[in-house]
Amino acid sequence: MSQPFKRLERVLRLEMKQGYQDKAVVGGIRQFVTFWIDQARAAVTEEADKALIEQVAEVLNQYHRLPGVEARADKIDNLMAKLDYRRQRVQGNKAKNEHHPSSTKRWTPPKQQPSSRRAPEAPTAPPAATPPPAKPDAPRPTVVADPARLQEPVTAVKGVGPKTAELLHRLGAETAQDLLYLMPRRFNDYTLMKSINQINYGETLTIIGTVWEVRSRKTRNNQVIIQAVISDGTGTVQASWFNQTWLVEQLKPNSQIVISGTVEQFLGRPIFNNPQWEPLAFEPLKTRRIVPIYPLTKGLSETKMRDIMRKAVTQYSDHIVDPLPDKIRSKHQLLPLGEAIRQQHFPQDQQLLHQARQRLAFDELFLLQLGMFSQRQDWLANPSLALPLEANSMQKYYQSLPFELTTAQKRVIAEVGRDLGETVPMNRLLQGDVGAGKTAVAAAALLMAIQAGAQAALMAPTSILAEQHYQSLQKMLAPFSFEIRLLTGNVTAKEKEEVYAALAAGDVQLVIGTHALIQEGVAFAKLGLVVIDEQHRFGVDQRQALRAKGPIIYDQQHHPHLLVMSATPIPRTLALTLYGNLDISILDEMPPGRQEIKTRWLPTRERERAYAFVRGQVKEGRQAYMVYPLVEESDSLDVKAAVTEYERLSQKIFPDLRVGLIHGKLANAEKEAVMASFKAGEIDILVATAVIEVGVDVPNSTVMVIDEANRFGLAQLHQFRGRVGRGQHQSYCLLIADSIGGDSQERLTALEETNDGFILAEKDLEIRGPGEFFGRQQSGLPELQLATLSDVSILEKARAEAETIFDIDPTLSLPDHQPLAQRLAQFWQQAGDIS
Ligand code: ADP
Ligand code: MG
Repeated sequence: MSQPFKRLERVLRLEMKQGYQDKAVVGGIRQFVTFWIDQARAAVTEEADKALIEQVAEVLNQYHRLPGVEARADKIDNLMAKLDYRRQRVQGNKAKNEHHPSSTKRWTPPKQQPSSRRAPEAPTAPPAATPPPAKPDAPRPTVVADPARLQEPVTAVKGVGPKTAELLHRLGAETAQDLLYLMPRRFNDYTLMKSINQINYGETLTIIGTVWEVRSRKTRNNQVIIQAVISDGTGTVQASWFNQTWLVEQLKPNSQIVISGTVEQFLGRPIFNNPQWEPLAFEPLKTRRIVPIYPLTKGLSETKMRDIMRKAVTQYSDHIVDPLPDKIRSKHQLLPLGEAIRQQHFPQDQQLLHQARQRLAFDELFLLQLGMFSQRQDWLANPSLALPLEANSMQKYYQSLPFELTTAQKRVIAEVGRDLGETVPMNRLLQGDVGAGKTAVAAAALLMAIQAGAQAALMAPTSILAEQHYQSLQKMLAPFSFEIRLLTGNVTAKEKEEVYAALAAGDVQLVIGTHALIQEGVAFAKLGLVVIDEQHRFGVDQRQALRAKGPIIYDQQHHPHLLVMSATPIPRTLALTLYGNLDISILDEMPPGRQEIKTRWLPTRERERAYAFVRGQVKEGRQAYMVYPLVEESDSLDVKAAVTEYERLSQKIFPDLRVGLIHGKLANAEKEAVMASFKAGEIDILVATAVIEVGVDVPNSTVMVIDEANRFGLAQLHQFRGRVGRGQHQSYCLLIADSIGGDSQERLTALEETNDGFILAEKDLEIRGPGEFFGRQQSGLPELQLATLSDVSILEKARAEAETIFDIDPTLSLPDHQPLAQRLAQFWQQAGDIS
């Protein structure tokens, strides 16, 4: 199976597009690797693939440490090349060349085309004190749109040969249409034009002038600086470029050029360092306009990329057929699609750029919604077993619980109960903040299914969590006599066979496990309900795999009812969009007696204070977690660091206390043993890595210390914090971090200020932007390039229109909807690749 590789490729691509900021996934690339690797290992069989997975993990584990864009770009390029190579291997194609290009090609500085190939530099009149604005783009000739041409390969774009095509492939573009949808990462606005005597330091602007003189000189460390003096009749200004020796030839004295950049100060005089420039006679592409900045890959320079995009837009944007029905377009005053695409690449002004973005964002959200609706329709097409409620056993369950269920829990259990009684499969999302008591609801649901005579499964993302659920469900469901089994990666082959046989025979009613549950060998006699905990850790493909394990009755594939649970509360409009294919239940009430977890952010020099605090709590009989982000799975260096930290804490800081250690490199059985003794109170302080992020429930622990808290995302920190405050004791969370750049200050302060996951989620959206939020929430969604989910008004419009269309024509088979049907398929295809 190549799904994990496709997923990886998608993340790498996003990372490229976002300029290698390690922001493609929440928590960073390394965080992604920690759960990617499990899924990947479980999915492949070939030795070459296995080796590749380890290589990938090794590289990406160090990714965040790489200093600077070029080093990161280098690694990612290298991985992309490996993935390319793998794809060719899998497709059975011989590699096109003897060598894979990227293994031999070295990065060289981008070269400008020799000036002889350019338009002659016609002398123009010296500019007036206020230079003329850039000419608007030439009027467009009318052509007959031929949408089929959009599927031409990128090599059909003028100037794109097979080598460039390969580079474009790395950016995800195979066809002309892909290019049109390869959007700029950002723009530089150089529309402000000034005469030289008017410019101020710090301004980003454009000047037009005549080249007076050009010099080249060497610096002490062997750099070459090209210096030009430009005059426009009102004054002169110097421009410098580093290591671009060819400029000596290109910048001809007395020629008219345009310079765009930010004015800097050098020895009290204004200067441009490495500005963009073009001869005045050229069509403005990188000066005196809003200039698009595209994602790049090694071997593809900014200038070259922009040139390709310009040609692609010119050649193809007229062939776009707008899939959006006119009625919708005019109702919401949206630009025609072709125009929006043109403006999104080479905007005429800020307003048109804004309109273009609105239009394209609308499309993304609209297509997203339509896809959701049709997915839902697909899911509902298969029947499910009706599992009628057995009231007596539910009474027995409630009475055996050590607590009274909250009103919210009761309400959700009733909602689930109603769904289970139907022959239409349930597709329900249970949202509830960390600690809201989702497990008790899950147990009720599982019990209902089992009492109605079906089998049920509960899937969790880590073996620690699966083991914990196994234990607590055994307790909660003890009054009932049925068999519960555990299925994780570390179950022995013999046991596994046993469980497989028992499930197939229907002798085991409830199975709790990890990804191990979706292996091909696992078959059920009569699977009626699947519950997925911490669902954001799973992809659609995995949910789908479990769905497919429903029984076949009278030749009919039945789907189990599905309940997915998530601790990330998100705003309602957002939830409706992200989970348009699911019904939503919300646990909006915490179990009684919970106290607010007091959260404090300490600078690293006050680490000792945290230790003293932990000691105080342990004296009072409580337990503590100390989390170290540096330690993660398959990163042996970091495991060493954790072990060292553990040794330091246990020998030097807390020699008199019982300190335990848990990290991803431990065998599952060891992890489970450590968790069991922590739970039993035999360990006072548990030194841990991110492995305890989700779900772990030990009510006696009251302190969570997170070292280097700035390395984690907001949602993740909130999850960590949720490990405490689960009992009746006042609990605390100490975040140790120095505020080092980025948005860490905002994140840490937000955590200090509130315990409310709902508010934090909104804050997270605000800080990080929605793209990544999306990515993490539900892998398997198409990538949104322009839509911001915080733009509620577009979102609501898009949903309403999608609903209307879907009501009239759910299969999009009306002739008017043909272009829409096609676009929908294309839009979802990238997501479909991994589902
Ligand atoms: P989460 O929603 O994060 O999965 P859990 O299901 O792990 O939360 O529950 C958190 C803790 O709250 C557990 O220790 C559980 O036993 C306890 N709990 C759940 N429901 C109630 C309730 N109604 N009253 C008191 N405690 C409860
Ligand atoms: Mg939980």
